[in-house]
Amino acid sequence: MTATEPVGSLMQNYAAPGVTFVRGQGTELWDNRGRRYLDFLTGLAVCSLGHSHPVVAEAIAEQARTLVHVSNLFGNELAPRLAGVLDLLVGDGTPLGGRVFFANSGAEANECAIKLARKWAGPGRHVVVSAYGSFHGRTLATLHATGQPSKHEPFQPLPEGFRHVAWSEVDALEACLDPSVAAVLLEPVQGEGGVNPAAPGFLAEVRRICDERGILMIMDEVQAGLGRTGRWFGFQHDGVVPDIVTMAKALGNGFPIGACWAKPDVADAFVPGDHGSTFGGQPLAAAAAAATLRVMRQEDVPALATSKGEALARALGALRGVKEVRGRGLLLAAELESEQAKAVAAEALERGLVVNAVTSTAIRFAPPLLVSDEEISEAMAILQASLDAVTAREDG
Ligand SMILES: *Cc1c(COP(=O)(O)O)cnc(C)c1O
Repeated sequence: MTATEPVGSLMQNYAAPGVTFVRGQGTELWDNRGRRYLDFLTGLAVCSLGHSHPVVAEAIAEQARTLVHVSNLFGNELAPRLAGVLDLLVGDGTPLGGRVFFANSGAEANECAIKLARKWAGPGRHVVVSAYGSFHGRTLATLHATGQPSKHEPFQPLPEGFRHVAWSEVDALEACLDPSVAAVLLEPVQGEGGVNPAAPGFLAEVRRICDERGILMIMDEVQAGLGRTGRWFGFQHDGVVPDIVTMAKALGNGFPIGACWAKPDVADAFVPGDHGSTFGGQPLAAAAAAATLRVMRQEDVPALATSKGEALARALGALRGVKEVRGRGLLLAAELESEQAKAVAAEALERGLVVNAVTSTAIRFAPPLLVSDEEISEAMAILQASLDAVTAREDG
């Protein structure tokens, strides 16, 4: 940047940032003042292999020198191979013969799922049922699918055809289904809603209900998917296979890419012209995702998420000021004894630990799946000091 280049202003839809990062490596980040941080949030469960992973960085650089983009008027060799790996992971090692649409974000992956469900179900059966407390994206349709009515109000009218039910309650779900419903859309662990896992067995019940009624089960694995909960996908804890699975956040380890997988008979509802994306599936994004998945499989990240998640949950549970720990694998939240989650997260940032206040009483943790025991110990020391400092301020 030269001195004469102007510095512009960003829209004010995000709160003013307190810290500006300039470099990351593994679990570590550095800001523009040269200060080091441990990142236990990874850009909201995005950089699951840590920052600037060398294999992903090399794949991006190599592909950038080879072929970045050709549009979907033409084939590329990388997207179908990536689709094959995703199909294998959705099947937990067994290929299912599903088809994949590539997008650029989680919301776009969900838009694809919603359009596919409507096309599959046909006219008059277009309603998508999702849960209160859910988060599915910020586009107009995915905003309406998001079960947080306060977020809807400024943007009414929203696209019609969305209905919300109590989270993880079988009876409530059954009661709200009628012949206008095409699909049920759920997260395996509500991420933005406060890290609320589905009750054990709930997703198996959802599968049964959807089969009985001939409606689609869509799992939004945008945040929980790709190893983070201790399985490749969160629904695998319940031994079910959904009809449609969406993913994004961790898929490119930070490179923007989303995907919507569907069973073959459901995917067949789309014919040429039904859906599209200029960038979706382009060689550069596909190369980043292929490298990410290659490393994830080599490292067996679901097993790491399980073992490191147990260690982190245990350490969190032992901290003064933490009332309860919830979540799965390395997608965890610590419920605090006070309503000071925001203050604790700010204090932790000041002391060199990146976490997020997911509610007024809970701190969310989504560290890299390759996080070390030493990094967990260091983070817990910072967090304890932060909790104590905020408590001391309250008492003082
Ligand atoms: C983040 C998130 C989305 C939206 O993803 P974007 O890439 O921000 O559009 C959708 N669903 C879930 C569960 C998410 O956590």
